[in-house]
Amino acid sequence: MKVIVDKEKCISCGFCEYTCPKVFRMDQNYKSEAFAIPTRLCLNDVQDAVDNCPGGAINWINDDAFY
Ligand code: SF4
Repeated sequence: MKVIVDKEKCISCGFCEYTCPKVFRMDQNYKSEAFAIPTRLCLNDVQDAVDNCPGGAINWINDDAFY
């Protein structure tokens, strides 16, 4: 599983980067991007970001969909 960020919905609050900087970072337009696949050790932090993103911009996706 990995996460993707819908940049159209991202309101640039920075919460996800603060919560889990190993997965999220802000791009040059200060929109979030998920640049790494979450490991087991940070799943709770990523879920926290998914659940509390004020823009509802972060979603889990199933890797299998791409193969
Ligand atoms: S928590 Fe949501 S709205 Fe805030 S920066 Fe991350 S993706 Fe954007």
